[in-house]
Amino acid sequence: MKPQKKQFGGTPARSPRQITLLRLRVSAAAETQLRARHPWLYADSIREQNRDGVIGELAVIYDRKDNFLAVGLFDPDSPIRVRVIHVGKPQTIDEAWWAARLENAAARRHDLFDAQTNGYRIINGESDGWPGLVFDRYDKIRVLKLYTGVWLPRLDEILRLILMQLKPQRVVLRLSRNIQAFARKSSGVEDGQMLYGDKPESLPTFMESGLRFEADVCRGQKTGFFLDQRENRRAVESLASGRKMLNAFSFSGGFSLYAARGGASSVTDLDISPHALESAKRNFALNKSAIARCRHELVQADAFDWLDADKSRQFDLIVLDPPSFAKRESERAGAIRAYERLAALGIQHLTPGGTLIACSCSAHVTAQEFFEAVRRSAARARKSFREIQTTRHAPDHPATFKEADYLKAIYLHF
Ligand code: SAH
Repeated sequence: MKPQKKQFGGTPARSPRQITLLRLRVSAAAETQLRARHPWLYADSIREQNRDGVIGELAVIYDRKDNFLAVGLFDPDSPIRVRVIHVGKPQTIDEAWWAARLENAAARRHDLFDAQTNGYRIINGESDGWPGLVFDRYDKIRVLKLYTGVWLPRLDEILRLILMQLKPQRVVLRLSRNIQAFARKSSGVEDGQMLYGDKPESLPTFMESGLRFEADVCRGQKTGFFLDQRENRRAVESLASGRKMLNAFSFSGGFSLYAARGGASSVTDLDISPHALESAKRNFALNKSAIARCRHELVQADAFDWLDADKSRQFDLIVLDPPSFAKRESERAGAIRAYERLAALGIQHLTPGGTLIACSCSAHVTAQEFFEAVRRSAARARKSFREIQTTRHAPDHPATFKEADYLKAIYLHF
């Protein structure tokens, strides 16, 4: 496959040599935060700026004594004015620097997976030193997802590094909704377009722990699959033998396939989206040989309504993995109540001796708040229960600061 000739990115980020370096001085509080490796500098923490900056250019942050403190990518239109890429000693940020940064991220995953798993995250945004950028592998395909426009002027440079180092067959570009219009206008790029290689004719598949899944890399949520739940799915496999399982908020049936392979007698996928359920059906078909004796049921419904409507259906193993209930801080209290209610509903469907696995992906709700909410529901159910474990981020999804720390799960045995 030949590289495409097209250039992406429109206006190149200005280099400090061409014009005066963009220099910032910041508040004492922001200085402390940056030293503590928080990767965001907010606009209202900037005390001094030598000139206007353009999106994506390097901004150098100096401390109170005029010493170099950090360098980051500037965004004149975002309250997160600088996304920090380096703190400490001054460094030259050139192509070799970016190449080393990509190598480091890939090296960190080197020993995490064997040949049975060729779908995983290679770059997890800020926590890997690439603020607002996610990069996933699905076998021979790579998906680059941008959550901020600061990367658009560097798209060509990054693509070049990816092709050189990782030699993928295809690279897909995904853009978060908030930057799609800007990306089209400034750089002529669209969400879901190929940066390299032909558009796949059918949905590509990849392997996770020896199971085959399809990933809607050009249009699906996130980058096409919830790679972040792999470790919890593995745990579910070991809890599934001989049990009836309910997978609520099932998406494409990830948890269900592991349960089926682990020997579940039946699995019920419950999701509001017909597309998700169709995908789950295809994923079961892809793994027929591994899961021959498991009954597979699909239910399209709102999970709260369905769980509330008829309590007669009982399951030995229930996974609750809803979408984020708190997209912003103001929704936090409501989200905690929703988690508590959902757990209570789930527990009503558990057989004696059953296991509940409740997950949350809301960064605005802390792990402690979420665990307490689920425990409250368990205590109120007046059944004795034992906590098996709580889990956090998977190793390919590191979270080095509060806002990045979203995923948690609690396992309760009744
Ligand atoms: N557990 C999945 C990921 C779940 S993503 C995995 O491991 O891959 C959340 C899913 O919840 C999506 O598929 C979405 O369609 C579904 N969903 C959102 N709101 C819902 C609701 N009210 N009832 C049921 N499903 C819902």
